[in-house]
This record gives sequence, structure tokens and C-alpha cells, in this order.
Amino acid sequence: MSSIFFWRKKREEEKVASDSSTQQQPANQANLTQAKLPSRSAKKGIRSLFAISKFDPEDLQTLEDILLQADFGLGASEKIVAAVRTEAKLQGASNESELRKILAQVIEAELGSDRAQLNLSSGKLPYVFLIVGVNGAGKTTTIGKLANWLGEGSWSVVLGAADTFRAAAVNQLATWAERAGAKLVAPKSDGQDPASVAFEAVEAAISEDADICIIDTAGRLQNKSDLMDELSKIRRVIEKRAEISEVLLVIDATTGQNGLSQAKAFTEVAQVTGVVLTKLDGTAKGGIAFAIQSELGIPIKLVGIGEGINDFAFFDAKEFASGLVA
Ligand code: GDP
Ligand code: GDP
Ligand code: MG
Repeated sequence: MSSIFFWRKKREEEKVASDSSTQQQPANQANLTQAKLPSRSAKKGIRSLFAISKFDPEDLQTLEDILLQADFGLGASEKIVAAVRTEAKLQGASNESELRKILAQVIEAELGSDRAQLNLSSGKLPYVFLIVGVNGAGKTTTIGKLANWLGEGSWSVVLGAADTFRAAAVNQLATWAERAGAKLVAPKSDGQDPASVAFEAVEAAISEDADICIIDTAGRLQNKSDLMDELSKIRRVIEKRAEISEVLLVIDATTGQNGLSQAKAFTEVAQVTGVVLTKLDGTAKGGIAFAIQSELGIPIKLVGIGEGINDFAFFDAKEFASGLVA
């Protein structure tokens, strides 16, 4: 993955008092400067489709089975194999390495080559990210990774621990905040209203002139109306103070089709703007990325490829396709 450029707020005060256009800007929209954030690659984290079943260039029917096993879904698997056949014929390709190359190109084209970008360029600070998804999907871990990465790029980050069901959830986020050098806004007592923690986190981000506020939420919600009530309340109180830049839905890639149906419930209630697909390192079912893009109609923005602080990357169709085919 190549470097990604984002905008961040310039720390040093710019003394341009005589410039009236600057004076008229709200304080937190002023003084943007481009900063380089460290790059992240998913290359080594994506499992090959051919780790278990071998690729047989003589028999493309086996390729369809491999794609099916990797959760591409029937329609996509058939389409990909048909496209590989056609392209191979066109190019007169028949050996394994040529066919793998064609396969990677076909997968990339099917995924759409748009680079996943986070919404970090509107200039209205602080950017607020709401992180949603079922329990265990990797929300808190993703927040830790993001906070650390943004911190390395000199962004100031405030984390809001709005998963207030369990003290352990707050402690886990606190550990990540410490590692990442981010400020944590935690509930004052167990079970404090998650919306009030979200509100306080955004207030803290504004008063401390922070660049970004990331809100962790609970995944353990009994039913869809609970989920809707809680998330809409969190949204409502945040929006009293700031715009929400991203609602990231975290999905565990190892849960396959089941994870996908749970994810649908979130997209129906949470105005999701992007997907984070975690645990790609732990599964040979990377094809789920296809089903997510086509069934949810929401771009995958980030991928998680391990438990470590640097184990994530921006979703990149080319990198993803070459990882699957490698
Ligand atoms: P949450 O309940 O959604 O907040 O999920 P957590 O962030 O607590 O993660 C649940 C478990 O998944 C933890 O053990 C994490 O270390 C692990 N995890 C999260 N992301 C990844 C990933 O990308 N790869 C792997 N292998 N494990 C992950
Ligand atoms: P509720 O229906 O009484 O819980 O209130 P809301 O739904 O408006 O907000 C939920 C929580 O967010 C409240 O309990 C407050 O802790 C917090 N909150 C919302 N708006 C404000 C505000 O304007 N000032 C402060 N201090 N807290 C607020
Ligand atoms: Mg959590």
C-alpha cells in the first residue's frame, strides 16, 4: 500500500491576524496542513486461496470450488472462472503463473479498484468516528491500531469508551489508549449511559482541540430495536456538538456468511459509511470481501491482519487480489 496523505490540523499557531478571511473561519476549521501518515500493508496478512487446495491450470472447474470454499459466493465464483477462461484464451495463456496473474486481475476488477479512503478531509475538526459491530468482531483492537497510526502522524486522538457494559471493555480500551498515546474518556461508573460517555468524549475532543475522536460501542445488544435505540441516541448526542465523519462497521472475516447477516442488521440501523474486515490473517475465506461489497453495498475501508498494533491496512483491491492468488 502506498503512502496515504491526509489533512491534519497544524499545531503551530499561524499568526496571520491581519488576514480577515482567516479570522472569519471557525477556530477548528482553520490552519489545515497536509501531513504524511505512515503506510501500512496487508500483503503478508492475506491468506492465499491455494494454501489448502492446489491450483490446477488444466482444470478450471476446481478453481470454482476453491473460490466457493473461500466464501466468494456462487455467482461471483462462476463469473470469475468464466472471465479467467475468456482472458486465458485471448492471451493464449495456459501455464500456472500466467493463469494466476489473470486470476488476480479478474478478482481486482471485480472488487473495483477504488482506493478506500477515510473521511478525513472535510477540514471540520474534530473528525468523529463511531465504531460499531457485534461483540468480538475486533472493534476495540481496530480503534487501538487506528489511534496509534494517527498518533504516529501527529494527530491528537481522543477515545470514548462507550461500551460501558463491562469494566473489562473499558480497561481494554484504556490499555490501547496508553499504547497509542491517546486520551481516554471513560465512564465514571459501571454502566453509565453510553450516549453520555460519547457526548463527553466529543466535548473533550473539542475543548482540547483534538483532531479526531473515536467512539467505541457495545456489540452485545439483545435485539434490533435495542441496537437502534442505543446507536441512534449516541448519534443524536454526538451531533449536538460535531459531525460524524465515519460510522465503521467491524466484521470478523472468520464468521463468514453468519457474520454477514449480523452485519446487515447494523447497516439497517447505523448509517454505516465503511466496513473494517478483521482477522483476515486467520481465515482462508477472504472471498467474504466480495459478498460484503456486493450484498451490503458499502465499501471495505480497512482490513485487520493480526492482533498487533500495526496489523491493519487500507483496503486495496490490487493488493488484496495479489494476496489471495499468491
Ligand atoms: P470487540 O468486542 O469488537 O471490541 O473485539 P476486540 O477488539 O476485543 O477483539 C476480539 C478479539 O479478536 C481479540 O482477541 C483481538 O485480539 C482479536 N482480533 C481483533 N482484530 C484482529 C485481527 O485482525 N486479527 C486477529 N488474528 N485477531 C484480531
Ligand atoms: P436523556 O434522554 O435524558 O438520556 O438525554 P439525551 O438523550 O439528550 O442525552 C443522553 C446523554 O448525553 C445525557 O444523559 C447526557 O449525559 C449527555 N448529553 C446530551 N446532551 C447534553 C448536553 O447538552 N450537555 C451535557 N452536559 N450532556 C449532554
Ligand atoms: Mg470491544
